[in-house]
Amino acid sequence: MKFLIAIAILACVVLASCSHTTPYVYYRQTHELLHSVLWMQRSAEYYAACETVYLGALDALDRALADSDWTAASEQKLPFGTKPPAIIVDVDETVLDNSFYEARLILDGSNYPNGWDEWCCEEKAVALPGAVEYLKEADKRGVAIFYVTNRDVKLDECTWRNLRAQGFPQTATAEQVLSKDEHEGWGSDKSTRRDYIARTHRIVQIAGDNLDDFAGYKQTTEERNALAKNYMSWWGTHWLMLPNPAYGSWERALLKYDNGVGDSLALRIKYEELKSGR
Ligand SMILES: [Mg+2]
Repeated sequence: MKFLIAIAILACVVLASCSHTTPYVYYRQTHELLHSVLWMQRSAEYYAACETVYLGALDALDRALADSDWTAASEQKLPFGTKPPAIIVDVDETVLDNSFYEARLILDGSNYPNGWDEWCCEEKAVALPGAVEYLKEADKRGVAIFYVTNRDVKLDECTWRNLRAQGFPQTATAEQVLSKDEHEGWGSDKSTRRDYIARTHRIVQIAGDNLDDFAGYKQTTEERNALAKNYMSWWGTHWLMLPNPAYGSWERALLKYDNGVGDSLALRIKYEELKSGR
């Protein structure tokens, strides 16, 4: 019996000393999103980058409205000079900040799309810096605003309510929110929705965080980079790119758009990419 008591006391001493040293243990276990999400949530640089994009956009908007030859959509067909002006904005990481959802993934050791639909319908995403102000100014100038999102149509109402609660203009109804699969032919490739809007409006600016928000779809890394360079004269005036270090089609392109790539293989491919870039 005495022996057992001695063992128990020894175990307590060991446990106590372990808990004492825990804060000094160097953890290397991490999540791929950790750095990106902290940058979005804590850095002055992210705030400044978003404001820079939207303040510059506003500056260009007046020139866009005054110039009837100006369009920001490769889908726009002539003649469009007399059509009413419109702006297209993507939703996630363009006007709404979902970094709190990303933080959840890190803390839970989880990955997208786990909990995504639930997050959207909590309607807690917050406006990106400068986004509401930019769109309110556009609204004052009589520009139609279309929120073109690849959120699934079943999230359409939640998305609309979240946008409205954050003070975004033209959200009296869900009509201006154009979700994926809301109509036949409105797939993940947003070109059909841009084409739909271009039939009735002159698209003067597009804002997004993903090249696919502007043009192209499921292109290779090389094609994506070539496309971005081809449209060099449109960046910052016609096309407004918001920074998103957390996710995007750039990553999907690295994985060759293969949905079957599991977590460990995806990591391996990413490490191989680093080596090939040396
Ligand atoms: Mg987005």
